[in-house]
Amino acid sequence: MPGEPTHKELTGKKLEQRWQETSESMNALYGPEENRTQETIAQSIQEFLQRTLTSEHFAKEGRTHIVCIDEGCACSHSVEDLIALAGSGIVMGDNYDTSLETATQTVKDMGIEVVTSHAGCGAGNLAFKELPEEAQQHYTDLFNKLTKEEGKGTQYLSPSDLYAADFAQGLATEAGLDYRHISAKEMTRPEDMHTARMIVVDATGRLQPQRIDNLPPAFLISEKYLSPEYAQAELSVALSIALGDHGFGKHFKDNEPLVVIVLGAPSSESFNDTIESVKQLVDTEFADKPVQVVEYQVDPDVFSDKH
Ligand SMILES: [Zn+2]
Repeated sequence: MPGEPTHKELTGKKLEQRWQETSESMNALYGPEENRTQETIAQSIQEFLQRTLTSEHFAKEGRTHIVCIDEGCACSHSVEDLIALAGSGIVMGDNYDTSLETATQTVKDMGIEVVTSHAGCGAGNLAFKELPEEAQQHYTDLFNKLTKEEGKGTQYLSPSDLYAADFAQGLATEAGLDYRHISAKEMTRPEDMHTARMIVVDATGRLQPQRIDNLPPAFLISEKYLSPEYAQAELSVALSIALGDHGFGKHFKDNEPLVVIVLGAPSSESFNDTIESVKQLVDTEFADKPVQVVEYQVDPDVFSDKH
């Protein structure tokens, strides 16, 4: 209709509104706007982590849930204990079978109890696009049938969501674990956009971002459990989404950058390698983008298991 705002305009408005909403918590991390530099931002964020993180923010034993790296899941209060894996492992291999094999190996001995899938999974969509046409059609038919039966009540937003749910269920069965789907309502972002202001590369493997008050929406990469190459691949996906059209994209600027926090365990010997690997990816694939890497090593007191 003439005069009515288009879908793109509506999304743009909503995105602008979300940027404003997340700016309050993010500005507290960036520090004072005047004379803001990379150095002052890094210092301000390190100070935030220093005064904020407590032992409560780190899982004491094995995490109970595997969730997607998506900020809507990693920061969701519907999950008590979590560890992140993109699409619960759906892009770990070249196809369903190789991904399932690698993901099953990865989740073994983690103390995991539940594998999850979620509404609007971007990793699921990446994997779906690689499926043979026949398989894509199968999930499309299934999705059409489901939306016809359940209308808008369906928990799945696309055919690729159904594929990702199938994969997560397959992984749960293979590894002898429970399965659950995280609905759009349970996620901490709108279903049609990504609102991540940060990415946390967690080399401690125990961080629980959903328990940190006033943490801006953040992707979570549980680097500790991943090969360096695969951790880079997950980080690349997270950066692409946050900086792309489905994320805040052009809202990020040099003095309001997308922040990548690299979190290390106390006296970890591999922490420097992790930092180098993150910087290498950012400096090559995202060299012209406003991305800032901030490293932080957790205090031994905070990290201790003995509380
Ligand atoms: Zn996802």
